[in-house]
Amino acid sequence: MVWLLRKCEKCKGYTLRQDECPYCGGKVHIPHPAKFSPHDKYIKYRQALRGLDEIEKHGNRRNKKS
Ligand SMILES: [Zn+2]
Repeated sequence: MVWLLRKCEKCKGYTLRQDECPYCGGKVHIPHPAKFSPHDKYIKYRQALRGLDEIEKHGNRRNKKS
């Protein structure tokens, strides 16, 4: 239930409270895992395609030899 968690901007603590941090009274926000932005996804997708292309080339080379 990660989406129920809030992270305090002040003490970086996690809480289930939606309004404020129970420890320091700081503002809380939804902690986003920033590693999966659409831009990164696109780059990873392109890198994956490039990797497949390499495998295909090697595979073709192997096929020609045999
Ligand atoms: Zn706090």
